Amino acid sequence: MATGLFIGGQWRPGADHIAVTNKFTHQVIGQVAVPSSADIELALASAVSGAAIMSALPTHQRYDILSRTAQLILARKVSLAQTIAQEAGKPIKFARVEVDRAAMTFQLAAEEARRIHGETLALDAIPSGEGFFGFWWRKPVGVVAAITPFNFPLNLVAHKLAPAIAAGNAFIHKPAEVTPLTAVALMEILLEAGLPPMAGQLLPGSGKVVGDAIVADPRVRKVTFTGSAEVGRLIISRAGIKKVTLELGNSSPVIVAEDADLEFAARRCAIGAFAHSGQVCISVQRIYVDQRIEDKFRDLLIAATQAIQVGDPLLDQTDVGPMIAEKEAERIEQWVSQAEQGGAVRLVGGQRDGAVYYPTLLDKTTADMQVTRNEVFAPVATFGTYANFDEALRAANSTDYGLQASLFTQNIDRVFKSIRQLDFGGVIVNDMPGFRADHMPYGGNKQSGLGREGLKFAIEEMTNIQTVAIRMPE
Ligand code: NAD
Repeated sequence: MATGLFIGGQWRPGADHIAVTNKFTHQVIGQVAVPSSADIELALASAVSGAAIMSALPTHQRYDILSRTAQLILARKVSLAQTIAQEAGKPIKFARVEVDRAAMTFQLAAEEARRIHGETLALDAIPSGEGFFGFWWRKPVGVVAAITPFNFPLNLVAHKLAPAIAAGNAFIHKPAEVTPLTAVALMEILLEAGLPPMAGQLLPGSGKVVGDAIVADPRVRKVTFTGSAEVGRLIISRAGIKKVTLELGNSSPVIVAEDADLEFAARRCAIGAFAHSGQVCISVQRIYVDQRIEDKFRDLLIAATQAIQVGDPLLDQTDVGPMIAEKEAERIEQWVSQAEQGGAVRLVGGQRDGAVYYPTLLDKTTADMQVTRNEVFAPVATFGTYANFDEALRAANSTDYGLQASLFTQNIDRVFKSIRQLDFGGVIVNDMPGFRADHMPYGGNKQSGLGREGLKFAIEEMTNIQTVAIRMPE
């Protein structure tokens, strides 16, 4: 029987089910139930009851739930990593890292729960405030709807559920259709860790039906979404007056200066571009190299790309497994062939085997090609050159996106110039743009989104500030 639908403190059979496949072998590995419209309504009503329970839960109990969740995730590392590798097609070594990070995300949230506070207000700083005692503090928003993508089915869920719990909210989670099994395993862990059963609702199912219904409902006070810019735009248009965080896509640039450690930069660019088939929002996409080192760096990058291991995600050595679906591999194959028709030169890669697309490097691309203009979200990177550093910064900024960018250099002036001029939510110096520590503020500018995650920052976005002014006795 299909499971996976958790509403009102119970696992329920649902109206229908979806089959979940291993993305490498295409075998069915599980079934999850999807909700009817009555189930969705019940989930919303239950979440409201859950929010009342959560807001009354003392901080030390929320700390314990989060901390126990972290421990249980680590205790189940082997099976969680296998589930991620199978349902997302993520190479097992990266799936293990994701499990460790998710445990850390819950532990960091536990610690942040203890630091949620406000401050007193000097209301008498102006004459009309004389005689008042004032302070502000943070209160949970109530019901948080978390909508998550396929590419990090555990840690990006952790980045939403953990701060929601830390802040004292109830949540409704809608995982990606293609990767719900990890979400089911996490829900089981949360319940075992002591989450009040009414506080969490899990609704697998389609974005159009389930996602849309919860986004539009006024009982939901906060939508936290990670996914594509296209769906982000739909969500913002449907949400009405509620808080919304959008963590969307990117087209990450990397600038390599002539004074960088070129061998290290080439290795990091290759792994940053191709790991998990480039299906990471901060994957290396556009590489800009000082033309004085063009030939040397191109050779190093080709060698580093050729060293990337393609194959079964369950094998320890694999860096690149299948893309999430064959149609995605066909899409990128088409984008690459369009780029080649427009004059791009393929340095490595270009082969496709079903859903597996081989790491591909393109030289001589132009700014109007899909592979530069759009988010590739595939194992494809472009190689370009610049004559001076200002030109490199302009090229890096020439995108509608603004999540993270990186540069490799030993020159402090270039570092500071880049920090000032790059219009990205994060700038990484001397490593790939894919660097993320789970407690740092993380999020995008421009079409890459709204708001920031990272536990402290997500908690701020999942709470309302309440101001209190008390007229004191004379
Ligand atoms: P997607 O936008 O297709 O789906 C994300 C989620 O939204 C899924 O759960 C989906 O079912 C749901 N959804 C779809 N239509 C909806 C609707 N109308 N209303 C509500 N929900 C709806 O994204 P994906 O393919 O799963 O993930 C890839 C995208 O996510 C890429 O663009 C990537 O850059 C982005 N991403 C961003 C970050 C970040 O932190 N900025 C991290 C990971 C992935």
